[in-house]
Amino acid sequence: MSEPSIFTRILQGEIPAEIIAETENAFAIRDIHPQAPVHLLVIPKSEQYRNVVELAAGDPDLLAELVGLANSVAAEHADGDFRLIFNTGPGAGQTVFHVHAHVLGGGLPEGSLG
Ligand code: 5GP
Repeated sequence: MSEPSIFTRILQGEIPAEIIAETENAFAIRDIHPQAPVHLLVIPKSEQYRNVVELAAGDPDLLAELVGLANSVAAEHADGDFRLIFNTGPGAGQTVFHVHAHVLGGGLPEGSLG
């Protein structure tokens, strides 16, 4: 059995982080290294799925629940508009292999990504 992920340890209270919102199967925290004025993470409570591709194939309802939670935290903590990013694979910058979405908002550069 592998070690619990950093997000599981946060959920279990082993690592301090404020849980800013929660649904039955998911929770949201602030990213410790924000890359935007508002940078939140929405995360399934289970670490069963390593990335969004596995999640979409295995539990599309949970993926929809994550998107809904992203929408509500963006409404509460930003102006409601947001970017939703799932880094998928180390080459794309994924460092935690417990699927999570980055919710970026609060005044992003205009125009294209990047
Ligand atoms: P990834 O690089 O896997 O897409 O995203 C992982 C994110 O988790 C990173 O943006 C990183 O800053 C964030 N992160 C890593 N450790 C912690 C932590 O202990 N607390 C919080 N709040 N965020 C963390």
